Amino acid sequence: RIAYVNGEYLPLEQASVSVMDRGFLFADGIYEVAAVLGGRLVDNAGHLARLERSLSEIGIANPHPVEEWVRIETELVSRNGVTEGLVYLQVTRGVAERDFTFPKDTPTTVVAFTQAKTITDNPLAETGAKVITVPDIRWQRRDIKSVALLAQVLAKQQAAEAGAAEAFMVEDGSITEGSSSTAFIVTKEGTIITRPLSNALLPGITRRAVIALAAEFDLKLEERLFSVEELHDAAEAFYTSASAFVMPVVSVDGKVLGDGRPGPVARRLRELYFTFAEARD
Ligand code: PMP
Repeated sequence: RIAYVNGEYLPLEQASVSVMDRGFLFADGIYEVAAVLGGRLVDNAGHLARLERSLSEIGIANPHPVEEWVRIETELVSRNGVTEGLVYLQVTRGVAERDFTFPKDTPTTVVAFTQAKTITDNPLAETGAKVITVPDIRWQRRDIKSVALLAQVLAKQQAAEAGAAEAFMVEDGSITEGSSSTAFIVTKEGTIITRPLSNALLPGITRRAVIALAAEFDLKLEERLFSVEELHDAAEAFYTSASAFVMPVVSVDGKVLGDGRPGPVARRLRELYFTFAEARD
C-alpha cells in the first residue's frame, strides 16, 4: 500500500512521522474520511470543507488548497487501485519540542492513506446492526473532527464486547451521535429524527445528504433531540457515515426494534444514498 506523508508517496512500511509530532503527543490535529465508490470520491467537496473548518477552529492554517487535496486523494486512490473503500487524511500542528502552546513557524504534518473496503455489499446491512448506548464522555467541541478519539475507541470496544457494531452516545438523556456515525430514529408515526447540529456532535457529511434526500423524496424528517427511551421505542433506527453509508439498526441495548430486520425507511434511504453516492464527487 502507498501512503502520503508531507509531499511524498511511500510504501506504508516506510511512511512515518516523528515521535515529537504534536498529533502523537497531544492529539493536536484533525482528520477527515471520505468514501471511494467505483474509484471516485463520494461527496468530497463536503469532506474538504469540513477539513477546512476543523483546521480553522483549532488555529491550524490549511496546508493545501482544495485542488491540491483532491490531487493527493486521487493519486492515492489510483496508486492503490482502490475501487471501493476510504481515503483518510490527517493534519497535525507538526513536529516541535514538547510544549503545550503552539510552536512558531512549524510546518504541519500531513498524512494520507487509503483503505480498500466493501461498503455497498456489506453483509451487516442485510441483517442490520446491533447498537448499545453508552455515556458520552467526550469534550465539548465534538463539531471538530479531532484525532483525539479515546472516548470513541472505548465506546466502540464496549460495543464490540457486547456483540454490537456501534455505540450510540448519551448526554443528558439524549443521543448525541454514534461513536463514528450520526444516529437517526424513525418513530412509529414514520417521522425520521436526528439531532440538530451544534458543538455536541460532528456535522456528518452523510447526515447532510440523507436530510436532503428525505426532503427530495417527501420523507418526513425532524431535526430535534431524541431520548434513549424514544430510541428504545422507535419503529426503526439507523446510523450514517462515510464508511457505512446508511446502516439499519435492529436492536438497541439488547431490545429488538420492530420485527428485528432492517426497516423500510432505513432500507429506502440506503438505496437512495447509493444512487446519490454514485453520482456525486
Ligand atoms: N459522528 C462521528 C463522531 C464520526 O466519527 C463520524 C464519522 N466520521 C460521523 C458522525 C459521520 O460523519 P460522516 O457522515 O461525515 O462520515
